[in-house]
Amino acid sequence: MAAPSFNGRIKPATKRARAQGQGDLPRLGLHPEIPGACTTPRCGDAADGQDETALPAGWIRVGVQGSTDPDRVWCSGLCATWGIARAELRVPAAARR
Ligand SMILES: [Zn+2]
Repeated sequence: MAAPSFNGRIKPATKRARAQGQGDLPRLGLHPEIPGACTTPRCGDAADGQDETALPAGWIRVGVQGSTDPDRVWCSGLCATWGIARAELRVPAAARR
């Protein structure tokens, strides 16, 4: 058998695509809640004064510099993105200079 050449045809590593959800990586579903209406306990709570080590893995702490909104913890990236937008709206105009 000849060694594979540099210009030889590349053989696919797998013969067929894996079925959705059966690969090696976990498949995360879409967040079930509408941003801003999440019902996950503690999602959106002020971060200061919380034991952040007690939060489940994957939670996100978000704060916007100069915002009157405190740093908050969010259950997902979708909720955190909504929280960033909300905190950005609460930056006083004088702080933007
Ligand atoms: Zn949430």
